[in-house]
Amino acid sequence: MVKKKDNCVKPPFTEKELLERLKKHFPRPWIDLNFETPFQLLVVTILAAQETDKKVNQISPEFFKKFPTPQDIAKAPLEKLEQSLKNINYYRRKAKLLKECCKVLVEEFNGQVPDNLEDLVKLPGVGRKTANVILVNAFNKPAIVVDTHVKRVSKRLGLTKHDNPDKIEKDLANFFSKENWVYISKALVLFGRYVCTARNPKCRECHLVDICPYDKKNL
Ligand code: SF4
Repeated sequence: MVKKKDNCVKPPFTEKELLERLKKHFPRPWIDLNFETPFQLLVVTILAAQETDKKVNQISPEFFKKFPTPQDIAKAPLEKLEQSLKNINYYRRKAKLLKECCKVLVEEFNGQVPDNLEDLVKLPGVGRKTANVILVNAFNKPAIVVDTHVKRVSKRLGLTKHDNPDKIEKDLANFFSKENWVYISKALVLFGRYVCTARNPKCRECHLVDICPYDKKNL
């Protein structure tokens, strides 16, 4: 059992109350991006920036057939990568990033995706959010993912007052026990994507409605 630190944010519910309700929505949370290995998750997460997971899932099987390893991407001509990615947003920038990322992966990490934050953020195209997505979903390691959904949900639920993702991450890390970080990282993304949506949140179907302090509920 990991001990929690003092927390200045005081949501009007306990961790247990929140988890019980979230588990009614998502007893076994998942990630919408399809992948089979940490390397594939790294690639699709970079591709998913400013793009829907659905679109990335459509192109990724063919992409991995052409470029199955980091070595293949690192040595591929940029135009070939661009050609394979042309149906997704910002494909030129992403092709370049992927190539740079895989070069570092091959040269400094022997082609293996690292399983720690410090090394992951050394990879071009990998910021703290992407690194945490990989830790949680590829390695089942405790980390807190703060994406646009988690940011919105955390504010509505009173789990944070901040807009800065690093500060939100700290607030969530203080509120939730470390043993629940993997669950919460997956579940809050899904909860924000499918229930507590940006526009017209589904408050009438929401199992958190009795504890949610948001004053603009959609009832
Ligand atoms: S009650 Fe509405 S605003 Fe509150 S968490 Fe549920 S969906 Fe979001």
